[in-house]
Amino acid sequence: MPARGAGGNINSTQETAEAMKLLVPVKRVVDYNVKVRVKADGTGVETANVKMSMNPFDEIAVEEAVRLKEKGAATEIIAVSAGPTACQEQIRTALAMGADRGILIEHDGILEPLAVAKLLKAVIAKESPDLVILGKQAIDDDMNATGQMLAALLGWPQGTYASKVEPADGGIKVTREVDGGLERLQLKLPAIVTTDLRLNEPRYASLPNIMKARKKPIETLKPADLGVDVSPRLTVLKVEEPPKRQAGKKVGSVQELVEKLRNEAKVI
Ligand code: AMP
Repeated sequence: MPARGAGGNINSTQETAEAMKLLVPVKRVVDYNVKVRVKADGTGVETANVKMSMNPFDEIAVEEAVRLKEKGAATEIIAVSAGPTACQEQIRTALAMGADRGILIEHDGILEPLAVAKLLKAVIAKESPDLVILGKQAIDDDMNATGQMLAALLGWPQGTYASKVEPADGGIKVTREVDGGLERLQLKLPAIVTTDLRLNEPRYASLPNIMKARKKPIETLKPADLGVDVSPRLTVLKVEEPPKRQAGKKVGSVQELVEKLRNEAKVI
């Protein structure tokens, strides 16, 4: 398909969504089964010796990309992760699920959503993908911002919280679950999509595919190679555990319940 710049110019009216190049950003986060513990000094959550995994919404994004490729609607899937060297593990998982190659943007410090969006914009300028599929939010800090910021930086259309993605009319159709119903959007390419939980059920990588993934290439870049300043702009004041829940009490009668609600809990 004709090259498409990061500015979003489509060079041919003949284009269909049948041969999209896909970029899937995947974040390394504390595994969703782990009970998160706050660091003793209140600066963040403990990640040392904690099981780390791909953000679950990003697994959904990789799955969707692989399904689009299996349908013949995509030509190539690039998985990209920004963070420490260990993010290679999450890129390998994406490669084992069916992505073709990976890009690691190596950085050891904090990466806020705006910094990640700027890094992704720079990768997009190099790779010219037609569609970027991100998770709707990372489960570690629940920012829910990177996809939206990336769309704004690029001036691209965005379909957030997608529960269905279909190539249609030279672009893509995105179904979103909104209060009281479904919203359907038709997006021109290039575009940004963020995944919601019900989009699909991600596959487990098979052993042969895990072996094959070892041979797939991962390019390593630094933020400076992409000309991006990733210095944090926010200051975390304090991270605290939620207050411990009090044990419940049994009451003997409705009168006692009403009395306790009125005089102890003071909610009625
Ligand atoms: P957030 O805005 O932090 O909640 O993250 C939303 C989505 O942006 C994630 O589901 C990922 O697809 C992507 N993302 C955020 N941070 C990173 C990162 N460090 N590396 C790769 N992708 C990321």
